Amino acid sequence: MSLARRRFDTLVIGAGGAGLRASLSLAGLDASVAVVSKVFPTRSHTVAAQGGINAALANVLPDNWHWHMYDTIKGSDYLGDQDAIEYMCRSAAHLVYELEHAGVPFSRLDDGRIYQRAFGGQSQHFGGAQAARTCAAADRTGHAILHTLYQQNIRARSHFFDEFFAVDLIRDEQGYILGALILDIESGEPMLIEAKTTLLATGGAGQLFRTNTNAHINTGDGLAMALRAGIPLQDMEFFQFHPTGIAGKGMLISEGARGEGGYLINAEGERFMRRYAPQAGDLASRDVVSRAIYNEVKAGRGCGPRRDHVLLKLDHLPETLIASRLPGIRQLAQTFAGVDPARAPIPVYPTAHYTMGGIPTNRHGQVVVPVGQGEETIPGLYAVGECACVSVHGANRLGGNSLLDIVVFGRAAGNHIVEYLKENRFHRPLDEASVAAAMARLQRWDQRGEGESVATLRADLQQAMQEYCGVYRSEEVLREGVVVLQGIRARLNGVRLQDHSRIFNVARIEALELENLVALGLATVHSALARRESRGAHSRVDYPARDDEHWLKHSLFYLEGERMDYKPVQLKPLSVASFPPKPRVY
Ligand SMILES: Cc1cc2nc3c(=O)[nH]c(=O)nc-3n(C[C@H](O)[C@H](O)[C@H](O)COP(=O)(O)OP(=O)(O)OC[C@H]3O[C@@H](n4cnc5c(N)ncnc54)[C@H](O)[C@@H]3O)c2cc1C
Repeated sequence: MSLARRRFDTLVIGAGGAGLRASLSLAGLDASVAVVSKVFPTRSHTVAAQGGINAALANVLPDNWHWHMYDTIKGSDYLGDQDAIEYMCRSAAHLVYELEHAGVPFSRLDDGRIYQRAFGGQSQHFGGAQAARTCAAADRTGHAILHTLYQQNIRARSHFFDEFFAVDLIRDEQGYILGALILDIESGEPMLIEAKTTLLATGGAGQLFRTNTNAHINTGDGLAMALRAGIPLQDMEFFQFHPTGIAGKGMLISEGARGEGGYLINAEGERFMRRYAPQAGDLASRDVVSRAIYNEVKAGRGCGPRRDHVLLKLDHLPETLIASRLPGIRQLAQTFAGVDPARAPIPVYPTAHYTMGGIPTNRHGQVVVPVGQGEETIPGLYAVGECACVSVHGANRLGGNSLLDIVVFGRAAGNHIVEYLKENRFHRPLDEASVAAAMARLQRWDQRGEGESVATLRADLQQAMQEYCGVYRSEEVLREGVVVLQGIRARLNGVRLQDHSRIFNVARIEALELENLVALGLATVHSALARRESRGAHSRVDYPARDDEHWLKHSLFYLEGERMDYKPVQLKPLSVASFPPKPRVY
């Protein structure tokens, strides 16, 4: 097969908020940038972000970045790296103003300043009264940010490869990353992009679970590409379940709904969150609220004929407020739950939402791996956004911190790549063996197989993850989960692709995505089995307490040999005093 080749200074894989913020930094300078995305850029999942982006602007209530830093560390259940968290919270205000000036139409206060709403886990004075830190463009903040960044990239002349699918990274014997093999989805033709630096910004892997808030495309491709290149994935046992998905369907009802005054009730009409989080109530951190809902339903206090969900009440709020601040939520509830939240409560249940784990990086976005007692960067490789683990979210992400993460570290990586390019002025010779290996993996999917369909196997994987690795976990169930997932991996080999020639190519993409998901499922279940404590989103019924003595460390999963390793949490911030672990109550 002939292989077209293109050369750029930088290859950015992923055109969500993370990729586009990085490419904007680069294209503004002299670097030539290729941005590859498997969907048209403005269809990336960032577009679906509803509630907003955190920055301590203090426009509505008193605030400062140091309180934001404390809340983020506490939210992370002390697993977040404090240097990266300080860096993110300190830069937040600057980045939000930058977005405002680039054209993001933020909602406004009467005096013209940016509107800010209360979100879960936010406090004043290091754990005191509720703060209001989330800047929003109604409930379509991600839409506004993504479109603005895309338009700015068009102006800066970033080179887009829309609807191209990245298959694998190319690396040489010295460990340098030299670019990637990509596939033109329309024609099915492969192409090689050579680059001095490659940035992975491929987003999360919510499609691992049956009930999730994520787009169909969120299959964690970049994470799996890293795994196959020998890079471990960090903290994969921490997957966030958002408390308020539409019951039975999974679509997200933003935390902004509770931030605007909504609250949860059980079948007895009780505001049960007051029992679980006396101070923060409905705005406790997400892991806490998700477990509370799960426990209410398990105790028989669920709502509906099957008693399998709780209710989110908004109908006590003025209809004008719902119309101006939560129009998208209203539409979602009407379409998918058949209720108008201005008149009746919305049935909700926890739904898989956010990948806290990912490709290990430092705060410049460089991918770092342990070597001996220390760490080394993978030369030429960067990762930012939901596919990366820097780690600012630790064991549990706070709402509004991911849109912040993607712009802060997107910019940081862009800036660092500029420096790297000054030192590394030439393309390194291509490693043909690595290209051949990537091509061979692709060509394996030219054989269509006789077994079950890709869709069947994907559904089985999602069901297995839901059953064996959900909100609550235990040794016994996780052990079974590993066996079930290994079985699913074995079945992959015989999978049947649609053999109708016109849709064959799309079927091949779905098979490649499934292969990625299976690797990530294994990473998640192995990491969860290994961690014998409960922390943040990882709740073990057999080890219900947090265990700082043994487990205040990041996990690393390697695909080869399916083995685990660990590295310390960075407890030392850059310039301020550390926040040492203490019991986490809301
Ligand atoms: C419904 C919903 C609501 C949310 N609301 C909020 C919120 O209010 N506030 C907040 O802070 N966070 C929110 N989040 C989380 C936040 O939106 C995401 O974590 C963040 O936008 C991820 O950005 P990203 O750039 O890393 O990835 P994405 O936006 O997911 O972009 C990934 C990109 O990678 C490309 N890609 C992936 N695989 C390949 C491949 N193999 N080849 C080529 N291209 C590929 C895709 O085409 C896409 O362009 C929400 C998430 C969801 C799902």
